Amino acid sequence: MNTVGDLGEFGLIRRLARVLPTTPAVLEGIGDDCAVLRYADRLLLVSSDLFVEDVHFRRSMMGPEEIGWKAAAAAISDVAAMGGAPLFSLVSLACEGGTDVAFVESVYRGMANVFSQYGGVIVGGDTSRCTGPMVLDVTVIGEVSGNRCLRRRGALPGDVIAVTGYPGLSAAGLDALERGKDQAELTQRHRWPRPRIREGQWLCARPEVHAMLDTSDGLVQDAEHIAEASGLGIDIESARVPIAPILARHCEEYGLDAQALILTGGEDYELAFTMGAENHEETLRALNNEFRTVVTVVGRCTDEWTGVRVDGREPDVGGFDHFLNRDE
Ligand SMILES: [Mg+2]
Repeated sequence: MNTVGDLGEFGLIRRLARVLPTTPAVLEGIGDDCAVLRYADRLLLVSSDLFVEDVHFRRSMMGPEEIGWKAAAAAISDVAAMGGAPLFSLVSLACEGGTDVAFVESVYRGMANVFSQYGGVIVGGDTSRCTGPMVLDVTVIGEVSGNRCLRRRGALPGDVIAVTGYPGLSAAGLDALERGKDQAELTQRHRWPRPRIREGQWLCARPEVHAMLDTSDGLVQDAEHIAEASGLGIDIESARVPIAPILARHCEEYGLDAQALILTGGEDYELAFTMGAENHEETLRALNNEFRTVVTVVGRCTDEWTGVRVDGREPDVGGFDHFLNRDE
């Protein structure tokens, strides 16, 4: 018997996509950050994100408002990934009957705070009793202006690939929390991720930007998603990947491999995008001037091979996959 653990998350998604029919209104179906749907003369973005206790969060390490914030921020980050803005959300919750009502209210307050900051409102959803860990499912409906969105499959040979913020910071924050070291500067990105909605919209309006996603599985694996969807190769130059000073200090203190963290650490919810190499510095400078967001070129796209290489070699590092049996 084949199990979902044997297939892995992405293998499972590919298998399921084959079972499901589609229609001409579906411009982008399964496989990107959001589905892209034509509705009247608009392009709608739709995405849903599961947030499962003991998989995505632990109550011992996160308060209820943080849990809600992170669930909603991760969900709307997929809208940011395509250059859109959130409009509406449906939230479904499953929890045990003995769950404290005030706790659940705080989770929803955390989610509401995300939408009031980045746009959109929660308009409904479902609730159910369950007998295990708490499960939140956040569906977001968003839109793009100008009939253009940025997909994973738009990258072109010769493009540079750039990333906002500091990769690996969320993973370093999680490591710090697991060590009982709650230092705000280090743990903030893990606990209170900031979806790059405005930066995503700005990038989407630039024709020189060709492909984009939000980084949730680790830089190497996220680059792999773009490479695979675009049918090309991406070479990441590890020396160019920015290392946040606080991450470097943390790794030094505990003897951790900073390089592994910045290449494979997930849940950053930053943007990774490719753009034409010509004048790319100018665009990145303009982005930085507009939002004060750190943005760095970390590699280049090629049609000489496919997949992702780090410094010209096949990486021996993976990223995050929900189902892969890691202990086998
Ligand atoms: Mg995503």
